[in-house]
Amino acid sequence: MHTDLVAALDIGGSKIAGALVDDHGRILLRAQRATPAREDGDTVMRAVEAVIGELTVSPLWGRVRAVGIGSAGPVDRAAGTVSPVNVPGWRGYPLVERVRAATGVPVELIGDGVAITAAEHWQGAARGHDNALCMVVSTGVGGGLVLNGQLHPGPTGNVGHIGHISVDLDGDPCPCGSRGCVERIASGPNIARRALEGGWRPGPDGDTSAAAVAEAARAGDPVAVASFQRAAQALAAGIAATATLVEIDIAVIGGGVAKAGDVLFTPLRRALADYATLSFVQRLTVVPALMGTDAGLVGAAAAALNVNPSATAAGV
Ligand SMILES: [Zn+2]
Repeated sequence: MHTDLVAALDIGGSKIAGALVDDHGRILLRAQRATPAREDGDTVMRAVEAVIGELTVSPLWGRVRAVGIGSAGPVDRAAGTVSPVNVPGWRGYPLVERVRAATGVPVELIGDGVAITAAEHWQGAARGHDNALCMVVSTGVGGGLVLNGQLHPGPTGNVGHIGHISVDLDGDPCPCGSRGCVERIASGPNIARRALEGGWRPGPDGDTSAAAVAEAARAGDPVAVASFQRAAQALAAGIAATATLVEIDIAVIGGGVAKAGDVLFTPLRRALADYATLSFVQRLTVVPALMGTDAGLVGAAAAALNVNPSATAAGV
């Protein structure tokens, strides 16, 4: 029997997606459940097991050699546990052990930002780049790093948490406990909050999302433009700091806020020139992500395909 497939799980605060994926990254079978995020930990786990159950009944399951999980974080890759901020029932939850019990194959766990980075490096905008930062800018700001041609998850699987590096030393308190974090300035809800505080008002539909602010910015509303410029400035400072530390040559940005297009990317590229100043970071480029909504699944599959089955089986 060929063991040329992996199973992928993408676990977030709103949905739990699963798939069987081949070694070219093609999705052969999908399953999905809503995340019962406000329920207790075992109820959340039953939703994961329901997704796994739809995969294991497939005749394709016999070809599966490992499971890759990309989970909302923080995760602890070494311990095999997850503590997603938006799933309070899971704190230090032994997800790897439970998934291994439900599937009988080795399990690899990474954070969702790392998963998206794996996907963009494998098949998306960071393909062919040996040193890359990939980011998701939406409700939160997350990311991951590729260094020397390899995904670099770090010991706990949380490398690339660019949303929680401080770019404003005396800035607003962030829910993480620090101040002036990139996320506190550049996430979608913060773009919308700042526009409203500056006097921007939504249209007749009452939509106060960052997407509505982006539309107003495109139409020339100066408060909306300024809110995106401030977000772009924070992202540029974070990206420049990362590039100066580890010499990335590309930053890939996905997530809902990146859909604002030029409203975000034009001021971001301008601000990057202000912060990425040393000779070795001046060629840094910033581009939109290419992988879309399947990035989490494809990235989790990439992590599973890199699994060393003997090492993982011993470790779990
Ligand atoms: Zn923070």
